[in-house]
Amino acid sequence: MEPAVVGKGRGHTPIRTCISCGTKKAKKEMARLVVRESGLVRDDLGSTKGRGAYICDTEACRERLMKNRRRHRVFRGDK
Ligand SMILES: [Zn+2]
Repeated sequence: MEPAVVGKGRGHTPIRTCISCGTKKAKKEMARLVVRESGLVRDDLGSTKGRGAYICDTEACRERLMKNRRRHRVFRGDK
């Protein structure tokens, strides 16, 4: 395991921000969601086409997101 060194281009961990609570975590610790016309789809493979978003993989964050989703631009689309 390499130490996390910023700016060296090695051992870099992608960081994503939870759209529910705003916590920043390593991408691998987050659940990826994709916005489809049918609604939010969890994308476990990380390869589904569509606008991706990340959320903590916790019940609390999923519930919060459902309550607050009108606040989030990602759910409105931009047509
Ligand atoms: Zn969260």
